Amino acid sequence: MAVSPYRLPTGRTLKEEIAASRRAIMTKTPTKTDEQVSFLRRSNAIQCSVCYRSFSDVEKALKPKSLPACGHTFCTFCIEKLNRKPCPTCRKVNDIDAEKVPINYALMNLIGEMQTERGPPPEIKDDPFVPCFENAKHESKMYCTDCQQAYCQRCFADAHSAKFMKDHKNIPVEKRPFTIPDCPNCPNGRVADAAIYYCPQLGCSENRITCIKCRNIHHRNHKVQMILPQLEKNYSKVEELLEKVQEKDKKVLKFNEYLGQLLDDADDQQSDHIAKIRNHFDNLKHNAITKYEKFMKKEEKKIENAMNQCCRSVAQIKGAKGRIVECLKRKRDLHDIDKFFKEVEGLKGVDTLGDFFPLNEYELTPDMSVEPKRPVKRPRLEDPSKDPVVAPQVKPVKEEVDSDGTYVDSDNDSDEDSSDDSSDDEAPPVRGDSDDDSSEYDPSDDSDDEDVIVLD
Ligand SMILES: [Zn+2]
Ligand SMILES: [Zn+2]
Ligand SMILES: [Zn+2]
Ligand SMILES: [Zn+2]
Ligand SMILES: [Zn+2]
Ligand SMILES: [Zn+2]
Repeated sequence: MAVSPYRLPTGRTLKEEIAASRRAIMTKTPTKTDEQVSFLRRSNAIQCSVCYRSFSDVEKALKPKSLPACGHTFCTFCIEKLNRKPCPTCRKVNDIDAEKVPINYALMNLIGEMQTERGPPPEIKDDPFVPCFENAKHESKMYCTDCQQAYCQRCFADAHSAKFMKDHKNIPVEKRPFTIPDCPNCPNGRVADAAIYYCPQLGCSENRITCIKCRNIHHRNHKVQMILPQLEKNYSKVEELLEKVQEKDKKVLKFNEYLGQLLDDADDQQSDHIAKIRNHFDNLKHNAITKYEKFMKKEEKKIENAMNQCCRSVAQIKGAKGRIVECLKRKRDLHDIDKFFKEVEGLKGVDTLGDFFPLNEYELTPDMSVEPKRPVKRPRLEDPSKDPVVAPQVKPVKEEVDSDGTYVDSDNDSDEDSSDDSSDDEAPPVRGDSDDDSSEYDPSDDSDDEDVIVLD
């Protein structure tokens, strides 16, 4: 069997191969005899005649390349090793750089077709979980219970193409028996034996696993156990652990999914809630404005009615004044002045200013859901000639006339003087006019009769 400078055809180093053989002996694996190996090689009709590895359409190092001078075909790995040396088969001169030697595509396609019949191409890894027995870079998929070796699907098919191996049984690689570890106590310089014992002794400070030979040195009086049952027990424990981890994984994923859902829904929920908030405040705004507009309409109507009343009063006053002035100028009709007094007495009164506030003094309530609040302060009439004067505080004319039947001048003068001193709030509401009068110009139900004052 030709040996490449680095690895054996199996992909193992020499040391690894020896260790594997020893392990095989320990686990009673029948090793392949030389005849079996060469038969296998022959059954793999298409292989490199230098390294005996099967050509591959997948692995770069095993792609077939043909030397242009003679047409002999070798794997890419061996062509690179050749490096301008003569052809190993016919010794013809070869003066082409390795990377310029062309790939034999016809052969490679043929290999590809042959190999697809033997299952999917192997998973190539630098450090597979279970290396294929035929190639240490293949991830194994199955385990031959007869060869007691793991294989990738293709290598299993290749290795078992011989008639006498056809009835080998295989199981999924996960179900393969446990691998006995190498003994860590075996002295350097010789290949380690399989550590078939496990030492559970309390206080044992040695390596817990050992081969037969080292057991007598390191665990002389210790009660050691076979390692295999221990491995099986531990395997079950680790399997349970994996289940727990997977359970956790599932939970975390589910939670994560749930959170993602929350996040997805957040946008929808947000726009929904914002729409509701907007709607709510739109309604409030609409109601407040409607209420305010209604209030303003009512106030305007009240002012208009009062103005109409004023116009009527002005006309009546003008008439009375004209007649009185005429009487004084003509010095006529002075024998019967009762009619003048009666006419003046009958003049329509006007509302006290207290009922009519400047609208900018109305205060909106904080939530604006009800009518604006009336100001507490009494309004003043602006008189350009004097300081602002409080609404004249007048004693009802009716009472004066009733008391002594005469019109008193001095009373009016004193009223004007005292009006400056009296504070707004102290001005007592005085009743002056009849009920029918006030109802004439006040459309609102809550007519403030108490505040009505008659002015002369
Ligand atoms: Zn080769
Ligand atoms: Zn050749
Ligand atoms: Zn087998
Ligand atoms: Zn393989
Ligand atoms: Zn040992
Ligand atoms: Zn021990």
